[in-house]
Amino acid sequence: MHALQFSIASLSEGSIAVDAVVSEETVRPVNAASLQLGPVRVQGVLDELGGEVLFRGTVSGVFRNTCDRCLDPMEAPFSVEVTWLFEEGELPEAEGGVIDIDPTDDEMPRIGALRGSELDLAPLAWEEIVLVVPSKYLCVDDCAGLCPGCGANLNREPCACPSDKVKEPKDNQGLAGLADMFPDLKPDKLEE
Ligand SMILES: [Zn+2]
Ligand SMILES: [Zn+2]
Repeated sequence: MHALQFSIASLSEGSIAVDAVVSEETVRPVNAASLQLGPVRVQGVLDELGGEVLFRGTVSGVFRNTCDRCLDPMEAPFSVEVTWLFEEGELPEAEGGVIDIDPTDDEMPRIGALRGSELDLAPLAWEEIVLVVPSKYLCVDDCAGLCPGCGANLNREPCACPSDKVKEPKDNQGLAGLADMFPDLKPDKLEE
């Protein structure tokens, strides 16, 4: 058993406080691709409610990646509030097992399975994490990125391109400058 697995028997006394930090390998299903995660923290409370088990808490951690613009390594933190309901299919409807969930809440709890004598928070933690994977990574919102010419990281160093290749927009050189900026258009280059 890992830190996100609990025996059903241990729940019979009521609530259990959960605060566990586990590796990505612990929450990742064996056939799922890695999400480049740091350690995952699961905090909350498990309640046994007459045959069903409710977990309410948070799943948090960091995605480790590189900035889409400057390629620097970076971390993107996440924290998700979760409500998970674990049900056992074979059991008759729980007697007195009133689940304290607001029925008007749009966000239905995610349902997990009670298997045998164990309850595992890891599969649901993984589902929640997959839903919040960033669509893009930026080290800072206004990351200046890399110069396409010289590769300089423009967040911390100036462009090192030769000055005749890069023209500042404010340099008003008129039409004479255009020929220098587009040397490929000169007649002697046409045969290449
Ligand atoms: Zn960046
Ligand atoms: Zn440059």
